[in-house]
Amino acid sequence: MVVLAVHGGAGGDGPWRGMTDADPQRIACMAALLEELGERLNNGDLDALEAVTLAVEAMENEPLFNAGRGSVLDENGNVGMDASIMRGVDKAAGSVIGLTTTRHPVRAAQHLLLQGWPVMLAGPSGDDFGKRHHVEQMEPSWFETELRKAQWEKWKAQRLRPGATDEEDALLDHDGEQDGWGTVGAVALDARGQVAAATSTGGMTGKPVGRVGDTAIIGAGTWADQTIAVSCTGVGEAFIRTVAAHSMAVHHRTEGLEKAALKVLEEVGPLGGRGGLIAVNTDGEVVMPFQTMLMYRGVYADGTCQVGIGPDLIQS
Ligand code: ASP
Repeated sequence: MVVLAVHGGAGGDGPWRGMTDADPQRIACMAALLEELGERLNNGDLDALEAVTLAVEAMENEPLFNAGRGSVLDENGNVGMDASIMRGVDKAAGSVIGLTTTRHPVRAAQHLLLQGWPVMLAGPSGDDFGKRHHVEQMEPSWFETELRKAQWEKWKAQRLRPGATDEEDALLDHDGEQDGWGTVGAVALDARGQVAAATSTGGMTGKPVGRVGDTAIIGAGTWADQTIAVSCTGVGEAFIRTVAAHSMAVHHRTEGLEKAALKVLEEVGPLGGRGGLIAVNTDGEVVMPFQTMLMYRGVYADGTCQVGIGPDLIQS
């Protein structure tokens, strides 16, 4: 059995208010990549590592997700992208931080994983590394969409409001009116029974320059070992402080997948860590829980694709 699951970020409060005008495009992106890559996983054409890389690349290409082109803007109005990837069988990992020119941060992270050392590279060194490994490079302005600029302008205007605190300043990109434009991630189980996980993000609108979220941190936003692969999304600081993705793997050993996932969300909740996660284990079980209004998500399993935003999944 093979499985590919993806998320496109979690966010919002209260009951789901239904699809926005932009949501069909996000759903179409997830459905298309799940169908194509799911089939290829099924045929044994792809291993879990390449499947999660390609899945995240497809979402980095979609400007409505907060990764690659369409990433949110930091306090200075610039894009800085984080990504990480992990292969379960040997716990090989790669992570890049604050990239500004690499079209597919997840691919640069995969090259680090394959090279074996170091695990993490930050800033211009990460972009240079991507360039040396022929990962396409773009002008920084190419990543900035009109939508993100408008979102940033709004953040800036609100930020100037008297009484705003630093914490309120750093918004998850999916808070406020423009719900659901989130971080992206993927987990996969391949035909050899091996798992991998990857996550990629522009972080949070108005984030301080140099801020590193959970997405780049192995064990916080991304984890894979011999039995489970996990990708998280939400307020990164709480996922870092609870080592959420690794915690999922630890709870999974004794509690099973469903209970483990709920425990992790219970742990991040009190630290302000609203969000969600996706996980697959080597038995082919999948969970995609979230404690927010919505989480963009989808899964390919047993030859069938399902995608969802609010509480329910629909067949695609
Ligand atoms: N976890 C990401 C971060 O803190 C944001 C998100 O998942 O939306 O950078």
